[in-house]
Amino acid sequence: MKFCNEENIKKIDKYLEKNKESIVNELMELVKIPSVQGEALEGMPFGKDCHSMLDAAAKLYEKNGFNAVTKHSEGYGYATYGEAEKTIGLFAHGDVVPVDDSWIYTKPFEPVVSGRYIIGRGCNDNKSGIISALYAAKAIRDLDFPLKSKLMMITGINEETGMIDIENFARNERTPELTLVPDANYPLVKGEKGIFHFNITSKKAFKQIKKFKGGCAYNVVLDKVEVELNYSDALLNELKELNIGARSEEDTIYITFKGMSSHAAHPEHSDNA
Ligand SMILES: [Zn+2]
Repeated sequence: MKFCNEENIKKIDKYLEKNKESIVNELMELVKIPSVQGEALEGMPFGKDCHSMLDAAAKLYEKNGFNAVTKHSEGYGYATYGEAEKTIGLFAHGDVVPVDDSWIYTKPFEPVVSGRYIIGRGCNDNKSGIISALYAAKAIRDLDFPLKSKLMMITGINEETGMIDIENFARNERTPELTLVPDANYPLVKGEKGIFHFNITSKKAFKQIKKFKGGCAYNVVLDKVEVELNYSDALLNELKELNIGARSEEDTIYITFKGMSSHAAHPEHSDNA
């Protein structure tokens, strides 16, 4: 009998509907953790908050009746369900992109439910993935669905800033035969929107530019750029004519450009500072 039939789909829908409140509440609890990569500490290479996130995910799995393993120094944890020769992985990440001051409707780590949505940093990318993996395993277990493979629900905490978590995972663990990543649209995503990372270095030192800084992550359209230049009357006058809000203090000219941030996958409606 085909497993993915209408009757089973209805059972799963009913199960999720019945658990809606805990799904929402558990996700909200994860969103409250400000798991932006921070300063590396002893045994916590991705900073305190990312590692709190790992602990929270492990606690959640334990609370729901799964055994959880946490590898803090490696930046990942996992829980499993079932015993079989082959494994299906479900990989989600609990770290989030840094926040900027473009959060105008809510506070990033104080999630709110608004209509059919939850608003908060990481409620979609990708703390929802942790909850999806958990409830997929729970539904299979609680509805007694037969499973030929072991399930391994993996949580990483370095997806946004280097993916060292998954590198460590692949080095230390037997990787699942197949892994689903609930961090995009089902069923398949090939590469991340052709993103292009590059570093450039000037052959000559910048003498007039003291500081040039913008953006909060590689895959985010710049919300703000700050520039500091060596002061000169001529330069300040020239900049003032451009009407870009240049101001001076002692020996420095300051300019701040404002934009409208957005994930680089959806640059439409954003404004690059
Ligand atoms: Zn993600």
